Amino acid sequence: METEAKIGVFICDCGTEIAGFIETEALVDRVRDLPHVTLVQRGLYHCSKKGQKRIRQAIAEQGLNRVVVAGCTPRTHEPLFRATCEAAGLNGSLFEMANIREQCAWVHAAEREGATAKALDLVRMAVAKAALLEARDKVEATVTPAALVIGAGTAGLTAALTLANGGFPVKLVEREREVGGLVRKLHTLYPTMQRAEEFISERIKAVQSNPNIEVLTQTQILDLSGSASNYHVTVGGNGHRAAFDVGAIIVATGAQPSHPNGLFRYDGRRVITQLELESKLKAGPVDAQHIVMIHGAGREEERLYSSSVYCMTVLKNAILLKEMKPEACISILFGDLQSFGEWCEDEIVRARQRGIKFIHFGPESKPVVKGDVVEVHDLLSGADLSLPYDLVVLSTPLVASDGASTLASMLHIPLDDYGFFPDVHVRLRPRNYIDPGIYICGNAHYPADTNESLFQAYSAASKALHHLSVGVVTSEAPVAVVDERLCTGCGTCVETCAFQAISLEKGEGVLSMSRIAPLLCKGCGNCVTACPSKAIALQSATDRQLLAQIGAALAGPQDGKPRVLGLLCQWSGYAAADLAGARRLQYPSNVRLIRGGCSARFDPHHILWAFLNGADGVFLGACEPGECHYVLGNQYAESRINGLQEMLTAAGFDARRLQLAWLKPDEPEDFVTAITAFTASIEKLGPMA
Ligand SMILES: Cc1cc2nc3c(=O)[nH]c(=O)nc-3n(C[C@H](O)[C@H](O)[C@H](O)COP(=O)(O)OP(=O)(O)OC[C@H]3O[C@@H](n4cnc5c(N)ncnc54)[C@H](O)[C@@H]3O)c2cc1C
Ligand code: SF4
Ligand code: SF4
Repeated sequence: METEAKIGVFICDCGTEIAGFIETEALVDRVRDLPHVTLVQRGLYHCSKKGQKRIRQAIAEQGLNRVVVAGCTPRTHEPLFRATCEAAGLNGSLFEMANIREQCAWVHAAEREGATAKALDLVRMAVAKAALLEARDKVEATVTPAALVIGAGTAGLTAALTLANGGFPVKLVEREREVGGLVRKLHTLYPTMQRAEEFISERIKAVQSNPNIEVLTQTQILDLSGSASNYHVTVGGNGHRAAFDVGAIIVATGAQPSHPNGLFRYDGRRVITQLELESKLKAGPVDAQHIVMIHGAGREEERLYSSSVYCMTVLKNAILLKEMKPEACISILFGDLQSFGEWCEDEIVRARQRGIKFIHFGPESKPVVKGDVVEVHDLLSGADLSLPYDLVVLSTPLVASDGASTLASMLHIPLDDYGFFPDVHVRLRPRNYIDPGIYICGNAHYPADTNESLFQAYSAASKALHHLSVGVVTSEAPVAVVDERLCTGCGTCVETCAFQAISLEKGEGVLSMSRIAPLLCKGCGNCVTACPSKAIALQSATDRQLLAQIGAALAGPQDGKPRVLGLLCQWSGYAAADLAGARRLQYPSNVRLIRGGCSARFDPHHILWAFLNGADGVFLGACEPGECHYVLGNQYAESRINGLQEMLTAAGFDARRLQLAWLKPDEPEDFVTAITAFTASIEKLGPMA
């Protein structure tokens, strides 16, 4: 039997940050009348030591079994208040927040009445949800104390050494016959001008003599499953196959120069790439009198990134050739030369002093390689030049390594537009991935020189070392749970889950039953929405809780304005709304927002329920395509919204009442523009019939 909810609501003034814009005392009076509320306390700073003590005392003295804090955003303060509840013996999952600072006080500063009315709705929503919360236990598992490093170039060798020196056994998997990556093929390394061979062989020797590292060459990853506590890895190649378990994975698969096939009469002899020039330089002096270097060869317009590596490389090699043969004529033709740091600026000056010519061409007049000359229009002098050559050297862009997409799908992490492995969010969570046991470094991330690759390798390895040393992973995230009585074994959920957290297992009789591995589940809720039998529930975001929140959001008195409900993904729309608050950007106060783990958690039934309960418009804010933290959650959300819009149209409703917006967490202006325009459009459409 469910125990009756006894909810304590703590309304925070946040100094004057909230109380300066909202009638918090009036709010206390109104909240007292809400169902299940046993206690309402107003405080100056509930997050202060004193404030937390008052919450703990109230839990103990009043026998509260649910707590709601109406104050700032849960994105920053939820962990603190959950810990406060736990210190008083109340399971942290029985806590809920109403974000009346970022979503009321700061964004409706000139509308005291509207902001107070909205704050009451937000508290009503939090209380309605809190009444239905259930205690959940943390899921814990021991981390396998071993690591896998994929790719044995500069970054992979360095990461493997750091992990091994930290005391953990490492499998270093390299698909080529030899380790060392791109640097093994280079002649010298800017800025030190150290011999590349010397630089890389020091690291190779250290790896080969380290008893904690097993190097597996001519080997590739064939299969990968499991989670941050334990990944099962199958590797193979060249007639062998092996399987092992690790607790951390570092991806260091590098990048590769794109091949200039068909460009600038490339033939690998008189027209070669910078990488081929490096091999020639390694073999001895280069015998050429007239050398033309074409920078940015093959950099298509849609490839917006530029690699500083190539700008440095072209300078390094031009100067080397000139020093080897001072009488040689060397020209660098460039559309865009991105010098990087002091070294590069100095090198440009040095190159000019030695007589190396720099010729700037425009995007419309690229150089043309003919029989014995390169023709180019010099933007600076306006002259059409015809440069004789013995050797043409092309700088082609560094592109993602072959096989990166196969690896990314095995690891369940998205790639960026160019096929590199990005951070979860470069500005908000640099060097973090959705899975705490997976790290990326070196050129697999983006084209970088050896110094930066080394820095990234140390950074990734120290994070992995921390993860392995802690030795335990704890998941407090809400996890999806299957109700076996309702599951029909259709398998829809298995196909929906991007993390392979769900499997079908033989149940009693002929039925198969869905099983969810709690440590693999990321809590996106996509399977919950997809299950046709409604057999899956997501703890902390069950259908009952969401429907109660939606009902409560629309239960306040009508003030003649349209009712707009925003359903926001926590990573994009909700984060942008928080930032809009922090920047005091204003938007209409008749908007009520609900946070979801992912846009895929919002079910078409939730939206229909909102319309049935008086919403005039529903706005879904999701991560942009390719940016979903749960791989494809936003695409599922988009197809569900499209389907629902068709249904609404067929039923005679205006589909513009439902809108999906792609949002970025750090672009609050876009959120404000989108929600303001949507609210205005709903106002124009008038109330829902
Ligand atoms: C022409 C040129 C000149 C350069 N000059 C300089 C310079 O002067 N100074 C400087 O600092 N930097 C220079 N660089 C950059 C330098 O090469 C990189 O910074 C460095 O190679 C990055 O190391 P990495 O380990 O990230 O990648 P890589 O060196 O590319 O190593 C990646 C490794 O992963 C392996 N691999 C890939 N996919 C898989 C897979 N699926 N499974 C197993 N193994 C895999 C590859 O075979 C490779 O061995 C230059 C680069 C080029 C192209
Ligand atoms: S989608 Fe639902 S009914 Fe189908 S297997 Fe999964 S849990 Fe069972
Ligand atoms: S909630 Fe998301 S991650 Fe968890 S099992 Fe369902 S689809 Fe997979």
